[in-house]
Amino acid sequence: MNIALITLFPEVFTPITKASILKRAQNKSLVKFKFVNPRDFAKDKRKTVDDKPYGGGAGMVMKVDVLHKAISSLKPKPYLVLLSASGAKFTQKKARAFSTKENLALICGHYEGVDARVENYVDEVVSIGDYVLTGGEIPAMVILDSIVRLIPGVINSKSPQDESFEKNLLEYPQYTRPEVYQKKSVPNILLTGNHQQIAEWRKDQSEKRTKKYRPDLAKSS
Ligand code: SAM
Repeated sequence: MNIALITLFPEVFTPITKASILKRAQNKSLVKFKFVNPRDFAKDKRKTVDDKPYGGGAGMVMKVDVLHKAISSLKPKPYLVLLSASGAKFTQKKARAFSTKENLALICGHYEGVDARVENYVDEVVSIGDYVLTGGEIPAMVILDSIVRLIPGVINSKSPQDESFEKNLLEYPQYTRPEVYQKKSVPNILLTGNHQQIAEWRKDQSEKRTKKYRPDLAKSS
Protein backbone atom coordinates (compact mmCIF):
# COMPACT_ATOMS: atom_id res chain seq x y z
CA MET A 1 0.00 0.00 0.00
CA ASN A 2 1.26 3.51 -0.83
CA ILE A 3 0.28 6.29 1.54
CA ALA A 4 1.00 9.91 0.70
CA LEU A 5 0.89 12.58 3.38
CA ILE A 6 0.26 16.08 2.13
CA THR A 7 1.60 18.20 4.95
CA LEU A 8 3.46 21.40 5.75
CA PHE A 9 5.24 19.51 8.56
CA PRO A 10 6.57 16.16 7.24
CA GLU A 11 9.16 16.04 10.02
CA VAL A 12 6.54 15.43 12.73
CA PHE A 13 5.81 11.99 11.25
CA THR A 14 9.35 10.68 11.82
CA PRO A 15 8.86 9.25 15.35
CA ILE A 16 5.82 7.18 14.44
CA THR A 17 6.92 6.01 10.99
CA LYS A 18 10.28 4.89 12.37
CA ALA A 19 8.97 2.76 15.25
CA SER A 20 6.82 -0.24 16.11
CA ILE A 21 4.16 -1.48 13.69
CA LEU A 22 4.63 1.24 11.05
CA LYS A 23 8.35 0.54 10.89
CA ARG A 24 7.76 -3.21 10.71
CA ALA A 25 5.21 -2.76 7.89
CA GLN A 26 7.72 -0.74 5.86
CA ASN A 27 10.49 -3.25 6.52
CA LYS A 28 8.21 -5.99 5.18
CA SER A 29 7.48 -3.76 2.11
CA LEU A 30 3.76 -3.84 2.98
CA VAL A 31 3.51 -0.05 3.12
CA LYS A 32 5.41 2.86 1.66
CA PHE A 33 5.08 6.49 2.80
CA LYS A 34 5.57 9.56 0.66
CA PHE A 35 5.56 13.14 1.90
CA VAL A 36 4.38 16.03 -0.23
CA ASN A 37 4.85 19.55 1.07
CA PRO A 38 2.32 22.05 -0.37
CA ARG A 39 4.96 24.75 0.09
CA ASP A 40 6.89 23.21 -2.81
CA PHE A 41 3.95 24.12 -5.08
CA ALA A 42 3.64 27.79 -4.05
CA LYS A 43 4.42 30.06 -6.97
CA ASP A 44 5.77 33.16 -5.22
CA LYS A 45 9.27 33.66 -3.78
CA ARG A 46 8.00 33.55 -0.19
CA LYS A 47 6.36 30.16 -0.81
CA THR A 48 2.99 31.38 0.45
CA VAL A 49 0.50 28.62 1.22
CA ASP A 50 -2.18 30.60 3.08
CA ASP A 51 -4.18 33.80 2.79
CA LYS A 52 -6.83 35.83 4.62
CA PRO A 53 -10.39 34.43 4.64
CA TYR A 54 -12.96 36.02 2.33
CA GLY A 55 -15.70 37.61 4.43
CA GLY A 56 -13.28 38.44 7.22
CA GLY A 57 -12.53 36.61 10.43
CA ALA A 58 -9.56 35.42 12.41
CA GLY A 59 -6.60 33.44 11.09
CA MET A 60 -5.48 32.29 7.68
CA VAL A 61 -6.80 29.71 5.24
CA MET A 62 -4.74 27.25 3.16
CA LYS A 63 -4.92 28.13 -0.53
CA VAL A 64 -6.86 25.94 -2.97
CA ASP A 65 -4.48 26.45 -5.93
CA VAL A 66 -1.42 25.31 -3.98
CA LEU A 67 -3.21 22.29 -2.49
CA HIS A 68 -4.68 21.33 -5.85
CA LYS A 69 -1.20 21.32 -7.41
CA ALA A 70 0.14 19.21 -4.53
CA ILE A 71 -2.74 16.74 -4.95
CA SER A 72 -2.32 16.58 -8.74
CA SER A 73 1.37 15.75 -8.40
CA LEU A 74 0.43 12.31 -7.03
CA LYS A 75 0.58 9.57 -9.65
CA PRO A 76 -1.32 7.27 -9.91
CA LYS A 77 -4.25 9.21 -8.52
CA PRO A 78 -4.75 8.03 -4.92
CA TYR A 79 -7.94 7.78 -2.90
CA LEU A 80 -7.94 11.27 -1.39
CA VAL A 81 -8.96 12.01 2.19
CA LEU A 82 -9.10 15.54 3.56
CA LEU A 83 -8.73 15.84 7.33
CA SER A 84 -11.14 18.32 8.83
CA ALA A 85 -12.83 18.80 12.20
CA SER A 86 -16.03 19.32 10.21
CA GLY A 87 -15.79 16.04 8.29
CA ALA A 88 -17.54 12.69 8.75
CA LYS A 89 -16.47 10.69 11.79
CA PHE A 90 -13.51 8.34 11.32
CA THR A 91 -14.43 4.85 12.50
CA GLN A 92 -12.99 1.33 12.52
CA LYS A 93 -15.21 0.63 9.48
CA LYS A 94 -13.52 3.48 7.61
CA ALA A 95 -10.11 2.26 8.77
CA ARG A 96 -10.89 -1.13 7.26
CA ALA A 97 -12.07 0.45 3.99
CA PHE A 98 -9.00 2.71 3.74
CA SER A 99 -6.69 -0.24 4.45
CA THR A 100 -7.82 -1.90 1.20
CA LYS A 101 -6.77 1.05 -1.01
CA GLU A 102 -3.61 0.53 -2.99
CA ASN A 103 -2.91 4.27 -3.10
CA LEU A 104 -4.19 6.56 -0.36
CA ALA A 105 -3.42 10.22 0.39
CA LEU A 106 -4.21 12.13 3.56
CA ILE A 107 -4.37 15.91 3.31
CA CYS A 108 -3.44 17.75 6.50
CA GLY A 109 -4.88 21.21 6.94
CA HIS A 110 -3.40 23.91 9.13
CA TYR A 111 -4.14 27.46 10.31
CA GLU A 112 -7.94 28.03 10.25
CA GLY A 113 -8.35 25.16 7.79
CA VAL A 114 -8.33 24.83 4.01
CA ASP A 115 -10.25 26.66 1.26
CA ALA A 116 -13.55 24.75 0.98
CA ARG A 117 -13.03 24.29 -2.78
CA VAL A 118 -10.39 21.64 -1.99
CA GLU A 119 -13.36 19.37 -1.21
CA ASN A 120 -14.05 19.23 -4.98
CA TYR A 121 -10.85 17.22 -5.47
CA VAL A 122 -11.16 14.69 -2.65
CA ASP A 123 -13.05 11.43 -2.14
CA GLU A 124 -13.83 11.94 1.56
CA VAL A 125 -13.64 14.53 4.31
CA VAL A 126 -12.90 12.91 7.68
CA SER A 127 -12.73 14.01 11.32
CA ILE A 128 -11.10 11.94 14.07
CA GLY A 129 -13.42 13.29 16.76
CA ASP A 130 -15.40 16.18 18.17
CA TYR A 131 -12.50 18.45 19.08
CA VAL A 132 -10.28 20.88 17.19
CA LEU A 133 -6.57 20.21 16.79
CA THR A 134 -3.98 22.65 15.49
CA GLY A 135 -3.29 20.72 12.30
CA GLY A 136 -4.14 17.57 10.39
CA GLU A 137 -0.85 15.85 11.25
CA ILE A 138 -2.01 14.18 14.48
CA PRO A 139 -5.30 13.04 12.86
CA ALA A 140 -3.25 11.67 9.93
CA MET A 141 -1.05 9.73 12.38
CA VAL A 142 -4.14 8.31 14.08
CA ILE A 143 -5.52 7.18 10.73
CA LEU A 144 -2.15 5.82 9.55
CA ASP A 145 -1.70 3.75 12.66
CA SER A 146 -5.23 2.36 12.59
CA ILE A 147 -5.12 1.34 8.92
CA VAL A 148 -1.59 -0.03 8.64
CA ARG A 149 -2.22 -2.61 11.40
CA LEU A 150 -5.16 -3.90 9.31
CA ILE A 151 -3.07 -4.59 6.20
CA PRO A 152 -2.76 -8.38 5.90
CA GLY A 153 0.64 -9.54 7.12
CA VAL A 154 1.38 -6.53 9.31
CA ILE A 155 0.18 -8.13 12.56
CA ASN A 156 -1.24 -11.55 13.45
CA SER A 157 -4.23 -11.55 11.08
CA LYS A 158 -6.62 -13.12 13.60
CA SER A 159 -6.30 -10.50 16.31
CA PRO A 160 -8.04 -7.45 14.72
CA GLN A 161 -11.24 -9.52 14.36
CA ASP A 162 -11.68 -9.70 18.14
CA GLU A 163 -10.89 -6.07 18.79
CA SER A 164 -13.11 -3.22 19.86
CA PHE A 165 -15.57 -1.88 17.25
CA GLU A 166 -15.56 -5.03 15.14
CA LYS A 167 -19.20 -6.27 15.31
CA ASN A 168 -20.19 -3.01 17.12
CA LEU A 169 -18.77 -4.27 20.41
CA LEU A 170 -15.97 -3.16 22.72
CA GLU A 171 -13.34 -5.74 23.51
CA TYR A 172 -13.69 -7.99 26.57
CA PRO A 173 -11.30 -7.36 29.51
CA GLN A 174 -7.85 -8.95 29.20
CA TYR A 175 -5.55 -10.19 32.00
CA THR A 176 -1.96 -11.42 32.29
CA ARG A 177 0.31 -12.58 35.15
CA PRO A 178 0.41 -12.26 38.14
CA GLU A 179 -2.73 -14.28 38.87
CA VAL A 180 -3.39 -12.22 42.03
CA TYR A 181 -2.34 -8.59 42.42
CA GLN A 182 -3.16 -6.62 45.57
CA LYS A 183 -5.85 -9.19 46.42
CA LYS A 184 -7.46 -8.75 42.99
CA SER A 185 -7.67 -12.07 41.15
CA VAL A 186 -7.95 -12.90 37.48
CA PRO A 187 -11.51 -14.24 36.82
CA ASN A 188 -11.55 -18.00 37.52
CA ILE A 189 -13.08 -18.87 34.16
CA LEU A 190 -9.88 -17.76 32.39
CA LEU A 191 -7.88 -20.36 34.34
CA THR A 192 -10.11 -23.33 33.45
CA GLY A 193 -8.74 -24.00 29.96
CA ASN A 194 -12.34 -24.50 28.76
CA HIS A 195 -12.21 -22.57 25.49
CA GLN A 196 -15.91 -22.67 24.78
CA GLN A 197 -16.86 -21.32 28.21
CA ILE A 198 -14.11 -18.69 27.97
CA ALA A 199 -15.46 -17.57 24.56
CA GLU A 200 -18.99 -17.29 26.02
CA TRP A 201 -17.73 -15.35 29.06
CA ARG A 202 -15.79 -12.97 26.79
CA LYS A 203 -18.82 -12.37 24.57
CA ASP A 204 -20.93 -11.59 27.65
CA GLN A 205 -18.23 -9.24 29.03
CA SER A 206 -17.99 -7.48 25.65
CA GLU A 207 -21.73 -6.87 25.61
CA LYS A 208 -21.77 -5.61 29.23
CA ARG A 209 -18.83 -3.29 28.62
CA THR A 210 -20.38 -1.92 25.43
CA LYS A 211 -23.69 -1.22 27.21
CA LYS A 212 -21.84 0.51 30.06
CA TYR A 213 -19.37 2.68 28.12
CA ARG A 214 -20.82 2.91 24.62
CA PRO A 215 -24.58 2.46 24.65
CA ASP A 216 -24.65 4.14 21.23
CA LEU A 217 -22.71 1.18 19.76
CA ALA A 218 -24.88 -1.33 21.58
CA LYS A 219 -28.01 0.22 20.02
CA SER A 220 -26.60 0.14 16.49
CA SER A 221 -25.74 -3.61 16.63
N1 SAM B 1 -11.41 26.29 11.87
C1 SAM B 1 -11.55 24.86 11.78
C2 SAM B 1 -12.89 24.43 12.40
O1 SAM B 1 -13.41 25.12 13.26
O2 SAM B 1 -13.41 23.36 12.02
C3 SAM B 1 -10.43 24.16 12.51
C4 SAM B 1 -9.13 24.23 11.77
S1 SAM B 1 -7.85 23.34 12.60
C5 SAM B 1 -7.17 24.58 13.64
C6 SAM B 1 -6.63 23.16 11.36
C7 SAM B 1 -6.60 21.81 10.68
O3 SAM B 1 -6.43 20.78 11.64
C8 SAM B 1 -7.81 21.40 9.89
O4 SAM B 1 -7.80 21.96 8.60
C9 SAM B 1 -7.73 19.89 9.86
O5 SAM B 1 -6.89 19.43 8.82
C10 SAM B 1 -7.04 19.59 11.19
N2 SAM B 1 -7.98 19.14 12.23
C11 SAM B 1 -8.28 19.76 13.39
N3 SAM B 1 -9.13 19.06 14.13
C12 SAM B 1 -9.38 17.92 13.44
C13 SAM B 1 -10.18 16.77 13.69
N4 SAM B 1 -10.93 16.65 14.78
N5 SAM B 1 -10.18 15.78 12.75
C14 SAM B 1 -9.46 15.89 11.62
N6 SAM B 1 -8.68 16.96 11.33
C15 SAM B 1 -8.65 17.96 12.22
